[in-house]
Amino acid sequence: MVSQKLFDLDANTLRIRNVVKVLRYSTKYAIIFFRDERVLRTEAGQYLMVWVIEDDEIPLSVSHVEDDGLCGVTVKGVGRTTNALCSISEGLKLGIRGPFGRGYKVKGKKPLLVAGGIGVASIRLLAVKMTKLGVFPTLIIGTRSADDNIFHNEFLDLSENGFLRYIPVTDDGSLGEKGLASEKVDKLVRAEEFDQLYGCGPEKMLYALFKIALKKGIQVQLSLERYMKCAVGICGQCSLDDSGLLVCEDGPVFSNKDLLKSNDFGRFVRTASGKKLPI
Ligand SMILES: Cc1cc2nc3c(=O)[nH]c(=O)nc-3n(C[C@H](O)[C@H](O)[C@H](O)COP(=O)(O)OP(=O)(O)OC[C@H]3O[C@@H](n4cnc5c(N)ncnc54)[C@H](O)[C@@H]3O)c2cc1C
Repeated sequence: MVSQKLFDLDANTLRIRNVVKVLRYSTKYAIIFFRDERVLRTEAGQYLMVWVIEDDEIPLSVSHVEDDGLCGVTVKGVGRTTNALCSISEGLKLGIRGPFGRGYKVKGKKPLLVAGGIGVASIRLLAVKMTKLGVFPTLIIGTRSADDNIFHNEFLDLSENGFLRYIPVTDDGSLGEKGLASEKVDKLVRAEEFDQLYGCGPEKMLYALFKIALKKGIQVQLSLERYMKCAVGICGQCSLDDSGLLVCEDGPVFSNKDLLKSNDFGRFVRTASGKKLPI
């Protein structure tokens, strides 16, 4: 069924933008900056459809909205399009649609923010927004190793200046405590009270956070990833069965209430052809 919801036609218009600056972290990660009036008004947690010209178009969270008018996406090379983006140069052009979807709402007095892997792209913008609003979040960043924590210096700086509490954890123990982000959350919520749990990262991590939050009665705002094609609620590729919710426009950020309705969350994703696969 075609979505009955009205989408923002202007946001959906394809804009061709120059790549103004690229920050590279090894061959695996890059932050790509460009200028776009509409993206400057992004809500933390929203995403863009980024078109590598003459190649594919993929969803990427907005990670940077800077005071000097630059906007940025942070990309991890995992396949053809993301690897092409990781090696893009300044002066080349990109296609942009969006921002799309529902982002995070800043709520509560004691928020806990958790990012796993490249999920840090969307959590970074939220953390920066909170520090500007005078909210003091606790931020857990879980990565495989120290090299994958690409915003470490920025978060350390924010923490040393009293804007947030920063807790890095790594699978191999090369930075912070050794272990999973969800294990650290489990320990922390036993010792302290939090009223909002924000998360973005692998779905296994999000599902673990969800179960912890349900037990403790904490409200969640979790950002999900699904294979996306249209981003405007038409193709149905990113539906969360049986909830009727679409990740592209009802999400990517979902609350407890939404997630409880879905049998897919934590269990199944769809491939490009629509086939369901267990997570
Ligand atoms: C809302 C949202 C926000 C995202 N934000 C970021 C981000 O900020 N930074 C980042 O690096 N990645 C982000 N991703 C994931 C990123 O879109 C995929 O890694 C990318 O599409 C892979 O494309 P590829 O051609 O490089 O890889 P492929 O070779 O096509 O596939 C590699 C893997 O990525 C998955 N994938 C491929 N295409 C899509 C798609 N259109 N949507 C979702 N998954 C896909 C495949 O199932 C496969 O597991 C986000 C995804 C979503 C849905």
